[in-house]
Amino acid sequence: MKLDVSDALAHPGQEYLFSGLQAIADQEISGDTVRIDDCAVEGGFLSDEEGNISVKGKLRTVAHAPCANCLEDAQAEVENEFDEVFRRNGDMEDDEIFAYQGHEVFLDKLVMSYAVMALPIRFLCREDCPGFEYRDPEAAPSEPGIQYPFAGLQQLLEKNEEV
Ligand SMILES: [Zn+2]
Repeated sequence: MKLDVSDALAHPGQEYLFSGLQAIADQEISGDTVRIDDCAVEGGFLSDEEGNISVKGKLRTVAHAPCANCLEDAQAEVENEFDEVFRRNGDMEDDEIFAYQGHEVFLDKLVMSYAVMALPIRFLCREDCPGFEYRDPEAAPSEPGIQYPFAGLQQLLEKNEEV
């Protein structure tokens, strides 16, 4: 998603509104793949006398990842607000700043960072998901599809001990 800032550059201080959808690549976060739907983005931008562009607005989307407890699909609503300055003719490869060249401001990096920032630490399929009934949470499988041939046996043994 990009903004044409030609008018803003010609009229410093005047705010221009924008809205649109920004696609976001899948994110690998602590071993899980988090899929993020297209972000609905809206806000406004304006130029200062030097041609630096302030972009202010909010984003809203839905993120999908395995439930932290049971590995079923879980989703979370994601919302965040941003307020950043894109430096005119700054280094666009520099991860520490936002910058633009010419008359187009690309919002990809901004929307991606603010969406990722707002992700929940743990995805849960529902608030009271009971998850696996392992005694040791460390023993819970971290990936779907992995077979733990002795898990069932372990549970049997533990049952017998309790009797
Ligand atoms: Zn769950």
